Amino acid sequence: MKITYTPNDDGRSVYTVESGSGNTYRVSYCGSGDGDPEYCATWECDCPAGRHGRMCKHIQAVAVVSNDEPIEAGAVLREA
Ligand SMILES: [Zn+2]
Repeated sequence: MKITYTPNDDGRSVYTVESGSGNTYRVSYCGSGDGDPEYCATWECDCPAGRHGRMCKHIQAVAVVSNDEPIEAGAVLREA
């Protein structure tokens, strides 16, 4: 599973996750980079499980390697 940090403009932290089977999913987290405690802190993934609101394996993998430290855009957080 390869994880790349791919931030976008709306304030969400977005990670591209390449699964071992070759599928690519987009995992996003909106709890960092804002500092407002009322700001939402939810994970989203566009895989079938993630679309049902589950903490899928992609979200869990990103949660392990990510933190609230600033990460350079395009940084690869995990290679395999
Ligand atoms: Zn997923």
